Amino acid sequence: MNQYNAAKHKKLIVLGKSLEKGVTHKLPESFIHSIIGTLDFFGASAGELQQAIFDLTVAKYKIFDVLGMMYSSEYYQAKPIYAAIEKLVDLYIAQAHVGGFAWFLRGHDLDIEEPHHCDDCIKSYDEFMSLTPEQRAAAKAKLIETFGDVIEI
Ligand SMILES: [Zn+2]
Repeated sequence: MNQYNAAKHKKLIVLGKSLEKGVTHKLPESFIHSIIGTLDFFGASAGELQQAIFDLTVAKYKIFDVLGMMYSSEYYQAKPIYAAIEKLVDLYIAQAHVGGFAWFLRGHDLDIEEPHHCDDCIKSYDEFMSLTPEQRAAAKAKLIETFGDVIEI
């Protein structure tokens, strides 16, 4: 059984409520893919991934709500994926920025790095979101030119 920490859960909820005041999160689909991809990488089952996809894309729950539900769930506490869920909770708290949280999942490797605050990730996300659709397309083309078509934007 993994260790649920009530104080950590409370911290997540209090922070999340102040960060995500709107009804739905504004993360572009590619960032949702990063969250799902992380759960997939750490061994979530097909059913668990389906649930997360539904919660984040159809129901459009707030990010902290989804993390909070998973973190406080007895079902997940008995699963190996719980360690990864806790890393996501730690990361959300450390970043204290929804976009910065999501960007971190693309730019860092939670398998070898502990969740931590990263200003660069927050800055990159904000810059990305401030681009016009045309600028975003140009930025994407440039990335593909540099890295090949392996980066999802
Ligand atoms: Zn970073």
